Amino acid sequence: MKTLLFLLTLLLSGHASATEIPDYKAKKIAAHTYVIHGPQEFPNEKNQGFMNNPGFVITNTGVVVIDPGSSLYVGKMVLRQIRKITDKPVSHVLNTHVHGDHWLGNQAFDEAFPKAVIMAHPEMIKAAKNGGAEHWQNLMQSMTKGATKGTKAIIPSKAVNDSAQFKTGGFTFAIFAPGKAHSGTDIMIHAVDDSVVFLGDNVTNKRMPGMQDASYRGNINASDVAIAIKARHYVPGHGPTGNVALVKSFKEYLSIIYTQAAIYYEEGLSDFEMKPKILKTLSKYTNWAFFDQEVGKHISLAVLEAEKAAFE
Ligand SMILES: [Zn+2]
Repeated sequence: MKTLLFLLTLLLSGHASATEIPDYKAKKIAAHTYVIHGPQEFPNEKNQGFMNNPGFVITNTGVVVIDPGSSLYVGKMVLRQIRKITDKPVSHVLNTHVHGDHWLGNQAFDEAFPKAVIMAHPEMIKAAKNGGAEHWQNLMQSMTKGATKGTKAIIPSKAVNDSAQFKTGGFTFAIFAPGKAHSGTDIMIHAVDDSVVFLGDNVTNKRMPGMQDASYRGNINASDVAIAIKARHYVPGHGPTGNVALVKSFKEYLSIIYTQAAIYYEEGLSDFEMKPKILKTLSKYTNWAFFDQEVGKHISLAVLEAEKAAFE
């Protein structure tokens, strides 16, 4: 009991503020590239919505950050990990899409490096300005029971389109945005010199994607574009980093569902009738995080898209 009381006192008088989140280690995945793999969880009070994979590339003169997380405090945590490796300034921040778990951490970088250029797809900027920022701030706050409070949405100011390229500190970054895929606001970033592709949520690994804003056909196409880059390393929006096999496996998941949904729709089957048939063909994916919660929704969305496609 005494120990418990002692621990409790320690906890209450601890140095860490209530909003600070613990360090997650940055993993070196290529010569100059690091990824902090977020937990496979939905936003909660403890993780402050941290569940994505912030990445950074250290160039000769600065640091390029990709998707700095879901809140001011997650962004600060990402910056702490960068500071363990380099004292170079952050020159650029890229946001892969409008979902707030990927970009609300911008604030930490905007405060520390006011000159850093924050970039995203023009549709991401538009969506964020048209209510997306507020929607995600509110969603994060309610899901984390207020833990992300104080986070301001710093919307990217520079738009980058498909096939844009920029050079910084002797490194080249190429942007791929082949139409609506995961959210209609997506970019993928190829860090050419390290042969790394940051996929955003166009591809997730061992973790179900959120398909609510996605297009199956567009997302399958984006996977093909990523595969064709022939990079050595692929960083998914969620789940472990790996090689091209993870992109192929994800594409196969979408293809299995969409192809069958289209066929069964033509045959006149209802959503309810085709679900058990499609489920039987997904045994390779049942160990993915959130499979049971999400798979039914994924099939329903595929049916809706197949239905729409039939009238095109
Ligand atoms: Zn997303």
